[in-house]
Amino acid sequence: MDAPAKPCPLCASPLKPTILPLIAGNEAPLRLTLHGMPALACAKAHTYFVKPDFALWLMNHLVEHDEATLPAGDATGLLFKAYLCHDCGKPLSPKPDHVHAFNLPLAYEGEPEFRVEVAMPVFRCGGCGKEQIHSLGEVRKLTPAALVDAFRGAGIRSGAM
Ligand SMILES: [Zn+2]
Ligand SMILES: [Zn+2]
Repeated sequence: MDAPAKPCPLCASPLKPTILPLIAGNEAPLRLTLHGMPALACAKAHTYFVKPDFALWLMNHLVEHDEATLPAGDATGLLFKAYLCHDCGKPLSPKPDHVHAFNLPLAYEGEPEFRVEVAMPVFRCGGCGKEQIHSLGEVRKLTPAALVDAFRGAGIRSGAM
């Protein structure tokens, strides 16, 4: 935030730190919504990541760190996947109960904190009743494409910085 940002590569007007109100991306059945993501923008609203490695940092942080905290079942079976409760080992209900939005707070290198909402169908355990997503592997696999969809939809450029 201290060093003066380089000018916009498209229109050469100065880039200033900004906060994106809300951007969302889908990779069914996952929907990712980013609330308050820090970015850089010029007066013409050309928008860039705060740093060139921001997108990769966010993807890795979500997949390896934050999503690991979500309540998730365990996938079993090779051809025909079944999902078992992570707590009691009983099968999860075959039909989703509802789509649950999990909130994950994140902060990048001294930038303001923002949050990522991970919306996924949750399934209720037939044994203990706990709601959980099918598996961590599933949400992790869907995350990169959903993020790319969000960035593309918001017109964020990686820029030449
Ligand atoms: Zn510009
Ligand atoms: Zn259970």
